[in-house]
Amino acid sequence: MKRVSILGSTGSVGRSTVDLLLRQPESFAIEALTAQSNVALLAEQARSLHAGFAVIGDESLLPELRQRLAGSGIEAGGGVNALIEAAERPADWVMAAIVGAAGLAPTLAAVRRGATVALANKESLVCAGPLVMGEAARCGATILPVDSEHNAIFQVFDFQRAEAVERIILTASGGPFRTLSMADMREVTPAQAMAHPVWSMGAKISVDSATLMNKGLELIEASFLFPVPEERIEVVIHPQSVIHSLVAYVDGSVLAQLGSPDMRTPIAVALAWPGRMHTPAPKLDLPTLAKMTFEAPDSVRFPALNLARQALQSGGAAPTILNAANEVAVEAFLAGRIGFLDIARIVEQSLTRLDHAMPQTLAEVHEADAAARREARQLLEPAGVTRIRPARGLTTRAGR
Ligand code: NAD
Ligand code: MG
Repeated sequence: MKRVSILGSTGSVGRSTVDLLLRQPESFAIEALTAQSNVALLAEQARSLHAGFAVIGDESLLPELRQRLAGSGIEAGGGVNALIEAAERPADWVMAAIVGAAGLAPTLAAVRRGATVALANKESLVCAGPLVMGEAARCGATILPVDSEHNAIFQVFDFQRAEAVERIILTASGGPFRTLSMADMREVTPAQAMAHPVWSMGAKISVDSATLMNKGLELIEASFLFPVPEERIEVVIHPQSVIHSLVAYVDGSVLAQLGSPDMRTPIAVALAWPGRMHTPAPKLDLPTLAKMTFEAPDSVRFPALNLARQALQSGGAAPTILNAANEVAVEAFLAGRIGFLDIARIVEQSLTRLDHAMPQTLAEVHEADAAARREARQLLEPAGVTRIRPARGLTTRAGR
């Protein structure tokens, strides 16, 4: 029996993980589940999986969680420290599926225990890659990538002969605005951005997919997960999302992993690793699929990808700043406060205004992250938006 915990069990990846666990209850014992605010679903999951410990991040909901778990024997916890405690409980396998930099501290707690960490929370690697990977090596943790692209590369990457890898190629669906003009992109709504053409995911990653920032975050994530330098990590748009990524070798061979766009496959790869398990993911039917297409990403309409590449090249705190500013901007876009094209602009402005010294510790990562959030929030204010909005040559109302 494998003892497992899920950090972020009520989210899209968390629910897919619960789905797999419920199909094979005899194989898994559930140590801990966590959620931020969906207390009803958390309690329901904890009861159906017979979890030992359920944690709600929003501490004001702890009384409600206790009430919903009454009589079950399941321990309840609330608040940030309880999230970390959940990660510290002795599970062999921990799904890190909290969204955003909020997932860093709990993920790091599981890493420091030397656990096997199934990593969906890409933002923790983007904002603290050297710290997380350094601690994983020091503490003997195993990190298994769950992001479908990285999971694909993990499956076809020859780690014994890494020098024979010429480059890795991340595929991207291109998101819902792949063919939209810049003028139309200026007007898109949060609902349109969240309607991903292929994948069904949480709100934040759906917007990231629409701006291509998701692929930028994944580029940074890949640079920490695989021994391949930034200049040998490529991105190609593949709207059908059937090839999840590729590894090109020096002899000209290119190995790809294919599958239906269903996160239960990469989650199952990590859950059963180094074995394999059945999943209900739709079988890939190539004749029905008929064709697969590829194109280069458009860096004019989707500047976020290049911003991420530049942040990776600059190093230091640049990826931390990129990630934090993006989280603030995406939240503001979802709240209707800024336009879609403002997201990349706010990230770019935050990167140029802040100092990029490398954060070494968790506290320093939190400091760099907080500074970037403050900067990005200022750029959201009407004055900040006016500062960055006018095209070159135009003056603001005040300047006229
Ligand atoms: P989601 O928004 O659906 O779920 C997020 C989960 O994190 C929820 O359980 C929520 O309660 C919890 N959470 C949110 N804010 C929190 C906070 N401040 N503190 C503690 N917990 C908090 O997100 P998702 O789509 O499942 O994505 C989760 C992670 O996996 C993200 O990093 C995303 O980039 C990555 N990922 C997702 C997919 C996908 O298909 N959804 C694919 C690849 C990678
Ligand atoms: Mg992905």
